[in-house]
Amino acid sequence: MPTSPDKKILIITAPSGAGKTSITRYLLQQFPELSFSISAATREKRSNEREGIDYYFMSMETFQEKIREQAFVEWEMVYDGKYYGTLRSELERIWKAGKIPLLDIDVKGAIHIQQQFPNSSLSIFIDPPSLSELHRRLAGRGTETPESLQARINKATFEQSFKQHFNSIILNEDLSKAQQEAQKLVQKFLSGT
Ligand code: 5GP
Repeated sequence: MPTSPDKKILIITAPSGAGKTSITRYLLQQFPELSFSISAATREKRSNEREGIDYYFMSMETFQEKIREQAFVEWEMVYDGKYYGTLRSELERIWKAGKIPLLDIDVKGAIHIQQQFPNSSLSIFIDPPSLSELHRRLAGRGTETPESLQARINKATFEQSFKQHFNSIILNEDLSKAQQEAQKLVQKFLSGT
């Protein structure tokens, strides 16, 4: 997709449970010029989630239709049989509103976006302090079955091996320190310095 240099993209990526949602929320509060990029997903909606706010939930058929129409800038089967993707129309919607999309996406998707927008994106990888801590956080969230928790741990191990591909890495040992570190990086990115 051709893009002008002012169409910036902020990418936050991490293994699931690394604290990326807390950092994403913090950045959205701090910077009114950022707007959360709502992904399409085929997984079940959780009870605390809202359609069109957390995700555009869609059936597998609809998602595949959109793949055929090339409606996605990237999409991945993030977990067994569950598809997630960034809609081109979502980025356009945010840019049109004069804002900068903040993408909270998995590592493979983040690499794809970076390749497409090498000069206008900032990618930040949030590193969990250890796999045992990650296990504790995911279990504490109470949203996982033993199988899905194990799948997320396996995926996290794999995803950590890609961290050097990103512009910056933040170790999330202490959430408020990690938030402040992210804030500094984003401030710099937004001001173009
Ligand atoms: P969850 O099911 O916990 O909401 O998200 C699972 C994973 O999918 C998270 O790592 C999240 O960042 C990732 N994800 C969410 N939206 C997208 C997307 O549009 N594309 C990709 N590649 N990953 C996404």
